[in-house]
Amino acid sequence: MGAEPGSLERFRERQRQLIERLRSGGVRDLAVLQAFDRVPRHLFVPEMFWARAYADEALPIGRGQTISRPSTHALYLEALELRGRERLLEIGAGSGFQTALLAVLCEHVYAIERVAELAAAARNRIESLGFTNVAIRVGDGAYGWRAYAPFDAIIVTAGAREVPKPLIQQLSPGGRLLIPIGDSESQDLHRFTRAADAGGEGGEGKTLVDEVIAKVRFVALRGRAGLEGFSESISRR
Ligand code: SAH
Repeated sequence: MGAEPGSLERFRERQRQLIERLRSGGVRDLAVLQAFDRVPRHLFVPEMFWARAYADEALPIGRGQTISRPSTHALYLEALELRGRERLLEIGAGSGFQTALLAVLCEHVYAIERVAELAAAARNRIESLGFTNVAIRVGDGAYGWRAYAPFDAIIVTAGAREVPKPLIQQLSPGGRLLIPIGDSESQDLHRFTRAADAGGEGGEGKTLVDEVIAKVRFVALRGRAGLEGFSESISRR
């Protein structure tokens, strides 16, 4: 399984305890729990945080960014109701941990990360775990990834002020988009579901169901497509 084979055994029991904690905390989707079993979280955080890698907490991953709490990842994964055949777009790959969980749960994962250094580290970890169904590129995720659109699911794991239009345009009929919308303090996690008969790209304006499924707190989505205001308001604090 690539780098750090020794540490896998060492953390196995804590990994099991984390899965048990997620289960008793209400995570019901067995495939989601199995994904947490397949992907060792300590390999996705700096070694100085290994001792805390299986607690339910966000941790620093460098460049002012964080790996989200395992329970937040589980919330996303359950809300997506993946069946294994999906083509999915992830905006904000960060450590790559959620990217790897998604690689277990769907057919193909396309991920975009704005910080080149984080994208490279995420790519290495995912490759060393043996996943071959993931592509990660560096860029501003607010534009989506047109070459591979449409997507059955799109997830944004950074807080946005509004929904970037290209993401709606790149959603398949029946597809779902998970995105935290709000300000720097807190966001509502929205799940937008496009009607199954809404047509492919260009089907904007057709039915889109909007549900708020949780309160969350993410680092800011940065970049263009109408989101500059948000990142500015963050940096001024
Ligand atoms: N799911 C990741 C979350 C990382 S935090 C994990 O658990 O590791 C959010 C990430 O989004 C950061 O890595 C940040 O650099 C990235 N990001 C912020 N704005 C972005 C944008 N416009 N496009 C792509 N990535 C972005």
